[in-house]
Amino acid sequence: MGYKNVCVNCRISLSEGTNYELFNRNKTCPTCKDKMYFVNEKFKAPKKSNDKEWKIIEYLLLSGYDFRNPYCGYEQCIYFEFPKNLQEAEAFIREMRKLK
Ligand SMILES: [Zn+2]
Repeated sequence: MGYKNVCVNCRISLSEGTNYELFNRNKTCPTCKDKMYFVNEKFKAPKKSNDKEWKIIEYLLLSGYDFRNPYCGYEQCIYFEFPKNLQEAEAFIREMRKLK
């Protein structure tokens, strides 16, 4: 449980615990020194060998999705289901960006 930081290069997620005060949103990966992505506790890392899911995750993170679920605007919420392919991931990001 708790929030996580994800490195898509190394395909790892590190737990940040649940103490909001201590969250590190600008973490660099301890292994490759690349930027890590801060994600909601709903995020579950697939196996490192799962290229397909990691490509989808990378796309979602680069598009600004942080795995909060539901993702809410002022008037509406949308629910996230893990996309079966990149087309579905793109459709989700389009919906997410329509929210105000
Ligand atoms: Zn890394």
